Amino acid sequence: MRKYNFCSGPAALPEAVLRRAQEELLDWGGRGCSVMEVSHRSADFVAVAERAEQDLRDLLSIPDNYKVLFLQGGATGQFSAVPWNLLGAGSRKIDIIHSGQWARKAIAEAGRYGEVNLVASAEDRNFSYAPGPDAWQQSADAAYFHYVPNETIGGVEFNYVPEVSCPLVADMSSSILSRPVDVEKFGVIFAGAQKNIGPSGIAVAIVREDLLERALPDIPRSLHWKIAADAGSMDNTPPTFAWYLSGLVFQWLKEQGGVEAMAELSRRKSQLLYDFIDRSDFYSNPVARDSRSRMNIPFVLADARLDKQFLRESEAAGLLNLPGHRSVGGMRASLYNAVPVEAVEALVDFMADFEARNG
Ligand code: PMP
Repeated sequence: MRKYNFCSGPAALPEAVLRRAQEELLDWGGRGCSVMEVSHRSADFVAVAERAEQDLRDLLSIPDNYKVLFLQGGATGQFSAVPWNLLGAGSRKIDIIHSGQWARKAIAEAGRYGEVNLVASAEDRNFSYAPGPDAWQQSADAAYFHYVPNETIGGVEFNYVPEVSCPLVADMSSSILSRPVDVEKFGVIFAGAQKNIGPSGIAVAIVREDLLERALPDIPRSLHWKIAADAGSMDNTPPTFAWYLSGLVFQWLKEQGGVEAMAELSRRKSQLLYDFIDRSDFYSNPVARDSRSRMNIPFVLADARLDKQFLRESEAAGLLNLPGHRSVGGMRASLYNAVPVEAVEALVDFMADFEARNG
């Protein structure tokens, strides 16, 4: 039977989506084959691709002057694609907020092509907060401004959208579709799929049209947003199954009430866990209250010698994938859209019981 899955990614998918995919796996809608076994250029697959794009547009109210791209190479591929696509218009300056491990990777990659300016850094307090705009050191003429609205490893989420005068680029890998966003505030939004969108193997980029003209001349073809946009994200063979499954997740999200419903659900789920942690002396979360992630909740035990026992027993109780990131240890519960409230209730019950037995 399916267990409660708190994996940070690839993460839990909605059971209804998996059942539908299972039903269609051998015989997709009477075609006598699966969706994986037809040409990406067939009318049947193109309809799947177009529907997925339209549903994503509906869910996020994406304006017409933005292209929606379905890409390969994950969010990491976009760490390279962003500078390649945006540094060709003159300025090579890149403003970035250093908020944690995913910002760090983007900074390292951007620094290979441009001149990175750290607008702000949360390193002074071990990346336990999202720096506010008061102390920013912005460049006068940056080509773009990059930030990570939700740091998946640190469990830090920005509760505001930066107001900047250059194109704003957001790595929304771990928070996309968890709340409404005003897409017009962004030049580029990108995300790996394997948290709130679908299975790994596909990434989404939402790019304002005027930014398609700024690529560096020697940009690799596979990173070129304009080529992808002109080819309907089919310049080469796309990951068709991942695209199809992402489309099923978008349909499911619409049935659940869209991103407004997900925002309310995320608030409830995360509050349940944070309230419990805050009431306890046995568990703690290191993140500043106004920067706590609704998606990824790291926590530690007062006595780290109990970690292994906690993880062993929680797994035996049907609560999967609770170890923290290998770089930080401790525990982390990821509460993406497909994780139901009941999962969080079961986790809190387990944690209370574990504390009563070992506290
Ligand atoms: N950015 C963020 C915020 C992430 O959480 C991740 C993956 N955990 C990545 C980028 C990298 O994604 P990918 O593995 O798809 O390259």
